[in-house]
Amino acid sequence: MHPGFTGVVQAEWPRPRGWLPPQHLDALDVQSLPGVGPSLAKRLRTFGITTVRELLLHAPRRYESAVDQVAISKLGEAEGEVAIEGRVVSARARPLRGRRTLVTALIADGSGGQISASFFNQPWLAEKLVSGTPIRVRGKLGRYGFDVKSYDIGEAKRTADFAPVYPASESVSTIRLRELVRAALAQHGRSLPDALPAELDLALRGDALHAIHFPVDDTQAEEARRRLALDELVALQLVVARLRTTDAVAPSLKEAGELIGRYREVLPFALTEHQERAITEIDLDLAQTTPMQRLLQGDVGSGKTVVALYALLRAVENGYQGALMAPTATLAEQHFLTLERLCTPLGIDVALLTGAVKGSVDASIVVGTHALIQPDVEFRDLAVAVVDEQHRFGVAQRQALAERRSPHVLHMTATPIPRTLALTIYGDLAVSEIAKPPADRKPIVTARVGAERSSDAYNRLRVHLDAGRQAYVVCPLIEQSETRLARAAEEEAERLRRAELKGYRVGLLHGKLKPADRREVMRQFTEHELDVLVATTVIEVGVDVPNATIMIVQEADRFGLAQLHQLRGRVGRGGEQSYCLLISRQAEELTETADARLQALVDTTDGFELAERDLELRREGQLLGTRQSGWSDLRFTKLRPDRDLIERARAIAADLRDEDGPWQDDADRLSEDATAGA
Ligand code: ADP
Ligand code: MG
Repeated sequence: MHPGFTGVVQAEWPRPRGWLPPQHLDALDVQSLPGVGPSLAKRLRTFGITTVRELLLHAPRRYESAVDQVAISKLGEAEGEVAIEGRVVSARARPLRGRRTLVTALIADGSGGQISASFFNQPWLAEKLVSGTPIRVRGKLGRYGFDVKSYDIGEAKRTADFAPVYPASESVSTIRLRELVRAALAQHGRSLPDALPAELDLALRGDALHAIHFPVDDTQAEEARRRLALDELVALQLVVARLRTTDAVAPSLKEAGELIGRYREVLPFALTEHQERAITEIDLDLAQTTPMQRLLQGDVGSGKTVVALYALLRAVENGYQGALMAPTATLAEQHFLTLERLCTPLGIDVALLTGAVKGSVDASIVVGTHALIQPDVEFRDLAVAVVDEQHRFGVAQRQALAERRSPHVLHMTATPIPRTLALTIYGDLAVSEIAKPPADRKPIVTARVGAERSSDAYNRLRVHLDAGRQAYVVCPLIEQSETRLARAAEEEAERLRRAELKGYRVGLLHGKLKPADRREVMRQFTEHELDVLVATTVIEVGVDVPNATIMIVQEADRFGLAQLHQLRGRVGRGGEQSYCLLISRQAEELTETADARLQALVDTTDGFELAERDLELRREGQLLGTRQSGWSDLRFTKLRPDRDLIERARAIAADLRDEDGPWQDDADRLSEDATAGA
């Protein structure tokens, strides 16, 4: 027998080894499920669920712990949640106000007791609860008899004891999600294709999916998670493998020469040992005709940009072009400014190319967004490409870059993971690491401040300003509309100019400013013509003003962990002690995960620690904006505990890569997902 998830699913699941076209579930809108109308669909969309497939893949963050089972006759004595087991005597459904329905079932057990159990908003249950059906429910005594929180109908299994608890959300409750998932599993659970070949003798994906939502115990839930993690890791490895199968040829670059010598002279500092080592590794790659595929990882502020520019200048020195691709227009602009500042004294021209700005693709160095990899963009002679914050691009863009041209590619990331893990996740991508920031850095001091004490935070900020330092104030993340965000930031800057920051020079930066205006604001702040920069998350990455020593983040609980870490990295870039003050509601008023996120930032500045915490917490709470955490390709994987799986996925993918099969659909979808997210 193959290792299925015994106990739960076998009774319900005919076990065809076949698979249906995956488009099937992708095309099914959640609104096709019973009881899902436009309003609920809209709320589901806020945490990234639009299709039945996405709903099925929305994993619980934990499970309820087991409760006592009591006889119905003893129910009066029980406190809190309990389980009862018996048979249905009768059931009926009736409408409540506001399109709600209530199904009540009279349940009797061997103790001679009977109780009326109530199920809200699950009208379809009325038909299933026929007289004599075995039933087990978990809940507690309430106003309408026994208020059911979770249940098992018909089978002798105990999933009700480990009912799933979904990522917290204000707009859709866990109970509601449970019903939806249950309905989706019943109707479509079987249609989720098994992507991996039968010879591997793995549990069926449909079973794993069922078990991750309704396991009989913790062990089964964990097995299911690992089974689903293996799927996504194989898909990822397949894409990574594709990246490596091009037999493209890149120009072999000669040794560093005169231009590089001058570059080292214009830098106001000596490169650190770590930067030098990275450069040596890059030089070895650039001498080859096999295109470089190297990951440069180093925490925020560790000094990756000067290394990136080194690689670009190596291309220029050899008569070729260099390109730097960033995930957002703002970031591209900021890189452009930094590079331009360093390149002008060297007599090297730099151009900017984004959706809005069409710079010349003939410049020696071109900085841009994914506009750079559009089909109509033809470089004169590209030899080195740098991809910043590569995890925000997803594998698809990496692929586009590798396929359409064959330059040497340096991928940069500020979300460091240990070398061994990086190797397994990115395939045989070579890794360089800047493990330590330039010497004189002091760790940023991070503190949480209750909203009612925000005036203390501004007092603190003014002390810095009065000492000749500069500051950032980050506006709350309101919703996905850039326009509304910009508006709110404008209002906040106005308010601060009249109140807390009266008498200081306050500038404003948001995504709706025209590029030229944005550049002007950045120039003013860089040259200390402004004391404070009030900004949206557009300053997340790339802004580099060492004299800025304090940052206030308003309503910090609305941001993602990785995002806060990036934001915080805007201070602490010079020798001065820097501070980051996270304003939020009181801990008691926050969701558990929001509280945990903020606390993680106070506890550590270590990017690796935070990446791990982020992966754990991300499963627990989705934030505004769906792709804030990076790691956008992984949903079920836990990096450290799943090391063995990553290795296994790599081996499986190596066997599969030349074959055609349903697994290729997963890899394709992964590519598409990644493109859609950019
Ligand atoms: P990252 O891109 O890794 O977040 P940056 O490249 O923006 O970091 O560097 C952060 C800051 O450190 C910048 O102000 C940069 O000029 C400075 N820096 C980089 N390398 C060194 C060095 N070797 N010594 C001193 N300062 C450095
Ligand atoms: Mg950077």
